[in-house]
Amino acid sequence: MSAEIIDGKAVAASVREKVAQAVASLKEKHGVQPALAVVLVGEDPASQVYVRNKGVATEKSGMRSIEHKLPETTSEDEVVALVRKLNDDDTVDGILVQLPLPKHIASDRVINEIHPDKDVDGLTEVNAGRLILGKPGLVPCTPQGSVILAKTVKDNLSGLNAVVVGRSILVGKPLSMLLLAENCTVTMAHSRTQDLASVCREADILCAAVGIPRLIKGDWVKKGAIVIDVGINRIEEDGRNRLVGDVDYGEAMDVAGAITPVPGGVGPMTIACLLRNTVIAGARRRGLGEVDV
Ligand code: NDP
Repeated sequence: MSAEIIDGKAVAASVREKVAQAVASLKEKHGVQPALAVVLVGEDPASQVYVRNKGVATEKSGMRSIEHKLPETTSEDEVVALVRKLNDDDTVDGILVQLPLPKHIASDRVINEIHPDKDVDGLTEVNAGRLILGKPGLVPCTPQGSVILAKTVKDNLSGLNAVVVGRSILVGKPLSMLLLAENCTVTMAHSRTQDLASVCREADILCAAVGIPRLIKGDWVKKGAIVIDVGINRIEEDGRNRLVGDVDYGEAMDVAGAITPVPGGVGPMTIACLLRNTVIAGARRRGLGEVDV
């Protein structure tokens, strides 16, 4: 039997719809329009596309989008000065610094200058600490999107064995913390894990965030498991340029209970969760409580 395909595009659209409703309600009840400021340094073509897409999505949801495009030669101190200005700007609810920054700029310093309550990428040390401590904060978008997708299959994940392959700060670690918060029994696997295949076979929820095309084979997947494939890998195959995940989708399809495709799985959730974080941050910062998104 074939696995259920988790439709990330459809789930992302429904998250974006909820965000738009929350934005409309903030406007109507409180005259508030949340705003997201995105800072782009340099001319990296992929980053320019991401920033444009984020701007369009922000405006579509009814929020205000502010773009700061700085030349490649901008100094670290100048980027920090801009972030501080945005921190102090009461009309700005979310600040996102597009990564990677040019090599002469220390990303860590710049990111940690963002006020934690405007840190809609959830990457500051304060928000990482809040996540570990189980305190309300802003959570990184891709891991949040991954958990939302898993919960479309099974609303209550409590007690399930979750294996997260990959322990990056951006994906693996926060995803593990979110699954722990859902009361899963979490195993974090990485490049030094011994017998990764056996570890994966124990997973009721198997999350892959590695960056190696089709690393995870069909016979590493437990029958009926929920498979969340975060990986996005560009490969040449049959003379074509293709995007594939970290899971061998064709093989896993025959074993898993549900699986995210690549593309069209976790990918679309990232921007949706960025918008979600922005409206959450906007309401909290203004003392308007928690929005239902
Ligand atoms: P990183 O390169 O930062 O981390 C990769 C992780 O995989 C590391 O923890 C590494 O272990 C682990 N790893 C490497 N090789 C193996 C192996 N052979 N077996 C087990 N684990 C291994 O990547 P990211 O977390 O940033 O991204 C992971 C993937 O997710 C990429 O394909 C990326 O493109 C994609 N991605 C997708 C997003 C989206 O959908 N919007 C957003 C962000 C990322 P160790 O720590 O030991 O080195």
